[in-house]
Amino acid sequence: TGVDGRDDVVSHALAREEELRVETLRSEGCAIALVSGHAEIFGSELARGQSVKIGGGKKVAVFTFHGATIEITGKVEIAYVAGETPMVSYANAHAVLNAKRERAGAAGSSEEGPRVMCVGPTDVGKSTVCSILCNYAARSGQAPLYVDLDLGQGALTVPGTICAAPVDAQIDLEEGIPLEMPLVYFYGDLTVNNPEYYKHIVTRLGALLDERSKANDDARAAGCVVNTMGWIDGMGLELLLHAREALKIDHVLVIGQERLYGQLQQKLAGTDCQVFRMQKSGGVVERTQEFRRATRDRMFKEYFYGPTGELAPASQTAYFSQISLYRIGGGPRAPASALPIGQTASTDPMRIAPVVPSTSLLHSVLAVSHGKTQGDLLNSNVAGFIYITEVDMIQKKFTYLSPCPGELPSNVLLVGNLKWLGLDN
Ligand code: ADP
Repeated sequence: TGVDGRDDVVSHALAREEELRVETLRSEGCAIALVSGHAEIFGSELARGQSVKIGGGKKVAVFTFHGATIEITGKVEIAYVAGETPMVSYANAHAVLNAKRERAGAAGSSEEGPRVMCVGPTDVGKSTVCSILCNYAARSGQAPLYVDLDLGQGALTVPGTICAAPVDAQIDLEEGIPLEMPLVYFYGDLTVNNPEYYKHIVTRLGALLDERSKANDDARAAGCVVNTMGWIDGMGLELLLHAREALKIDHVLVIGQERLYGQLQQKLAGTDCQVFRMQKSGGVVERTQEFRRATRDRMFKEYFYGPTGELAPASQTAYFSQISLYRIGGGPRAPASALPIGQTASTDPMRIAPVVPSTSLLHSVLAVSHGKTQGDLLNSNVAGFIYITEVDMIQKKFTYLSPCPGELPSNVLLVGNLKWLGLDN
């Protein structure tokens, strides 16, 4: 029998370099246990005899370099063994990056460690490759910074942000990347309608990477692993190239698209950045719009309620007079195609506009800025997020959820276009 004495257990024998691909049901998760041998999920090693819970709607692969027996407890959508995976090439990429980390970490060295960026269309496994590379680095005693520039399906905190967090131990399969000290910038939307402001916060993040690297030799040597959006044409490509420069990326890994690989090779010729082509895993599953929306809802839920629902967020109230609300860029600009020929949108992309409280804020996720004054807002990262559950226009107050009880760290809040329908949804 398997976990908790259950009898719905299926055992799978994996030969060397094979992986077991598991898609859980939308409605319920499963438990995965390593019975013998060695195996890992996206670079996180499984401990023998211990089972990990995989939540409903998730898709994972249990890979083994040398062979393993795996048990799955619970009903799943599908579980099958695949013999062809790009895992060995990912491990080779790690070896190249780690050699650079070791050189940079040698006594007396002032070299920078590798700064890696994974790029490619959506659903090619970019964030998975970032996790694998961070896990391999952590397992070899390094603590690279995981940087997520993907607004829509970011792996670290709520959608609509860009952020960075050090990975100093392999990523916990149930809890995700620990976020004690994440560095978060609020963009406030799931797609980039305001490229100037997006570039601005990426540039700020880049400056902080440099400061961190100057202040701490281990951080300098460990470098960073950057996940990006799947937007690779036109402005999307321009944003990738901008991020490449702003974050001083020296290794770009292009996953699953020869055209983008060719374009980047041309654009980056003559720089000291190397472009590599990586194979896409056959296990990566394309996600529907609906699935993406559900993943985003889960990210919001996990932020307020904890990855396993263990937090009880505090419901609090604040009078309109106690807080200041601002929006950056004065709302989404009309796309150029919607304007008469020859005209450009008149909104200043970096304008900081005060927001008058109204019922339209209901169900919004707002960011609590570290900025003290209106002028600071463009350059400040955020302390966290609150979720508006009620707007009382008569008594002029909000009710909101916050993951931490007590007073907000600041009364300056940023408004974007992030809405979450909450737990009932
Ligand atoms: P991207 O970042 O390019 O959009 P992801 O890394 O998020 O893509 O991968 C898409 C989905 O495929 C995720 O749900 C991920 O867990 C899943 N996935 C990735 N690699 C595998 C694999 N080898 N086997 C099964 N599922 C996988």
